[in-house]
Amino acid sequence: MTKIGLEIHCQLTKLESKLFCPCKANYREYAPNTNICPICMGLPGTLPRLNQKAIEKATMIAMALNCSTPEKIAFFRKNYFYPDLPKNFQITQLNIYGDTSIGGSGMIIVGDKKIRITRIQLEEDPGRLIYEGSSSKNQITLVDYNRAGTPLVEIVTEPDFENPKQVREFLNILSDLLENLDVSDPSLEGAMRADANVSIEGGNKIEIKNIGSFHDLEKAVHFEITRQESLHARDILIAQETRHWDDKRKITISSRSKEEELDYRYFLEGDIPWIIIEKEIHEKLKSEMPESISSKKERYVTKYGIPDQVADVLSSDKFYSDLFDKSDTEKNAKEIANIITTDLMGLVDTKEKRQQSKLESSHLTDLADAIQSGKITRTSAKNALYEIVKSGKKLEQIISEFDLGHVSDEN
Ligand SMILES: [Zn+2]
Repeated sequence: MTKIGLEIHCQLTKLESKLFCPCKANYREYAPNTNICPICMGLPGTLPRLNQKAIEKATMIAMALNCSTPEKIAFFRKNYFYPDLPKNFQITQLNIYGDTSIGGSGMIIVGDKKIRITRIQLEEDPGRLIYEGSSSKNQITLVDYNRAGTPLVEIVTEPDFENPKQVREFLNILSDLLENLDVSDPSLEGAMRADANVSIEGGNKIEIKNIGSFHDLEKAVHFEITRQESLHARDILIAQETRHWDDKRKITISSRSKEEELDYRYFLEGDIPWIIIEKEIHEKLKSEMPESISSKKERYVTKYGIPDQVADVLSSDKFYSDLFDKSDTEKNAKEIANIITTDLMGLVDTKEKRQQSKLESSHLTDLADAIQSGKITRTSAKNALYEIVKSGKKLEQIISEFDLGHVSDEN
């Protein structure tokens, strides 16, 4: 049986500041090496100052994935030398003195399969290496430390996936969940990265590192299964190794680096005390969490009688469910749900289009009213919606400007 396990790194892109200093978590807007300070540059004599919001948001992710949340958490130093790591160690978490990571074991249902979560840890992102130059001989490496210290949540699963399709379903659910919690924007470049381990029946476990997006993760897993099956069919031993994902050629390649846990000389981060998160704080965070996708879906079905499939689409996309919930759902909930999931979807199918859209929930209320009262036809409503998204004008104005009113004169 094929076994796949994932380690997903997710940046908390919605936070204001980095994990241990006041620099911006949103490093993407800055010119190289301008979003830095002595703390994230690891200058001698500086001390980390833990971002409380990062603890809160990471705890919410743990709760949403049904993980246990320990009362006492600790941070560790993971020592390694690499140009993108100014301190020469990364502050991360490790369960060596009991469960002291931000989230303990949990689980999530994917289709009809239970995927176990091993743990969730909070850590800092390193900087970025940028390779420039035309040939491998003339290549230079630039270092941008703007990203160094950005809050990162690592989600580790048990090897419970059996095929790439389950991996993709899991990633879709996870990405909706993170968006719904308003902790991360998975569409941002580099916001989601992953490692995967893959083994087929009778073979050794292969670890794939450095997968830069959810889209590539599924491809990498698919490639690796095919590669291992082809070796197996020719009776060639599948040696245990680490492979890197080459995102240009879309293949995995053998990598010489073979660090084991011991090589990192983990030890307790002495500059950050153990953090006690009392029960009351966990309860407060739980009460502040946004309504879950499954509970939204149930509400849409039971309260408004919206069909299962429509409720699925509506609840799993925060953009749609926010629009729906803010419109006047007491009167025409079904009609509004219908407009969103049939006509609106095609008009706002990219992030850019969503940002440019002038549509507000009150427009949806007006449109549903106009359709229900027979003032305009569904086809006219569709045309009006196009104009609203583009201009943000009121429905009344669009009806008169474009003469969309329904004429019920027989002649
Ligand atoms: Zn800084």
